[in-house]
Amino acid sequence: MVNTNRSQESGARSQEGRGQGDKRTRGQGSNPSHQPLVTSHSPHTPHPTPHTPLLGLNQAQLTAWVQAQGQPAYRGKQLYDWIYHKGARSLSEISVFPKQWRSSVENVSIGRSQIHHRTVAPDETVKYLLQLADNQIVETVGIPTDKRLTVCVSTQVGCPMACDFCATGKGGFRRNLAPHEIIDQVLTVQSNFQRRVSHIVFMGMGEPLLNTENVVAAIQSLNQDVGIGQRCMTLSTVGIPGRILKLAKYQLQVTLAVSLHASNQATREKLIPSAQKYSLHDLLSECREYVRLTGRRVTFEYILLAGVNDGIKQAAELAQLLRGFQSHVNLIPYNPIREADYQRPSSSQIQAFVNVLKQQQIAVSVRYSRGLEAEAACGQLRAQQLQPSLG
Ligand code: SAH
Repeated sequence: MVNTNRSQESGARSQEGRGQGDKRTRGQGSNPSHQPLVTSHSPHTPHPTPHTPLLGLNQAQLTAWVQAQGQPAYRGKQLYDWIYHKGARSLSEISVFPKQWRSSVENVSIGRSQIHHRTVAPDETVKYLLQLADNQIVETVGIPTDKRLTVCVSTQVGCPMACDFCATGKGGFRRNLAPHEIIDQVLTVQSNFQRRVSHIVFMGMGEPLLNTENVVAAIQSLNQDVGIGQRCMTLSTVGIPGRILKLAKYQLQVTLAVSLHASNQATREKLIPSAQKYSLHDLLSECREYVRLTGRRVTFEYILLAGVNDGIKQAAELAQLLRGFQSHVNLIPYNPIREADYQRPSSSQIQAFVNVLKQQQIAVSVRYSRGLEAEAACGQLRAQQLQPSLG
């Protein structure tokens, strides 16, 4: 599973300011709660000043950090293993560290969240509400099958895009997630399932391309430090002007999924407010350029809403729109949410839509969301649990 193309990726990683000399900027992005990384303090300081959490730092950076604490370099490797492979939640539990040093750094945060709420659906999908250091709550979902354990991760607290069918969008936006808050979601599911995570989809709360630097830093760490292949990761975006091309520059191996949801501009604008400032034409041109720059196929997600965008006519229009495009269409039958009154189309309507695309040689699959019983679809659990506290 571990991506073999390390040299190319480490290039991209240092582009993100994750190189040795650049620890201070790593992963701070737009998270206002981040404190500067403390690179040294006296071993006699009883309560070290707050740190940027250690999660998200690579082995060289952790080694530099332990050395700055007056510890030998090999403790950096130990720290790295405990954080990424043994799931350490605090420095005080790292039993191979000398007691005295452990107690002097016990206030240094690794950056792990608390499980605030956990719901298991009959199909074994587990939905988590995770509580972050500033008490914000994000959703994460663990989706097991025989061969895979997929984690659906959030990239923001809430979402500013306000798509009309999306529970997260109805709840407003709070802030971007920092890299460690994204990586933590995967480690949490991994330890909770006691099983290796094989796949990651960036399809939880938030719009990843409004938080590109932190999401890319998290992808690189999940790949290189946690050991999950980039090809087993999918990043889903509604499309933000210029950001798909910005993503292409990182030359990642992840799959890009674009939430199209409509076969024409007028329908798209009704469903996705931001589409008013980003035409389908411009979005598709950017996607084409992305394919050219990366050589990677794009997936187009298309939510099926009964009577809105699920007709045979729209299927033909979609086929026309995507003709000759190196792509794959992923149809998502609508998951009903309380805050909107769309309907999910019937199975025969879905099948009819699929057939039109297939006749037009468009690669297509249908994604049935799992975990509906756990309110696992798209922002619903958080909305249900936390409605009074959302702004
Ligand atoms: N902001 C990103 C990623 C988060 S949403 C994006 O828009 O792509 C992940 C996917 O779930 C998107 O395709 C989104 O449109 C879809 N989605 C949101 N609410 C849904 C619902 N109620 N039913 C089905 N799919 C939904």
